[in-house]
Amino acid sequence: MKLCLRCGGARWVCEAHPDRPWGSGPNACDCGAPGDPCPICNRADVDTFPDLPPGFEIEEARDLEADPILTTETERDDD
Ligand SMILES: [Zn+2]
Ligand SMILES: [Zn+2]
Repeated sequence: MKLCLRCGGARWVCEAHPDRPWGSGPNACDCGAPGDPCPICNRADVDTFPDLPPGFEIEEARDLEADPILTTETERDDD
């Protein structure tokens, strides 16, 4: 597997210098700015969450008795 050229496989880039890796790697930017998910290999879009820092919690709302939890699109074209 080839390492990402943007972040060197760190999966995060410096927010102030988006062309530099962020984290603890040898080439990581140490300017002190926060990190951003690498736009090349760690993109956050609708169904792809970025790798989250440890300790990050996602609150899950579960209410099985009140309403069905199945809200995903289940409609399919009858092809
Ligand atoms: Zn930086
Ligand atoms: Zn990357």
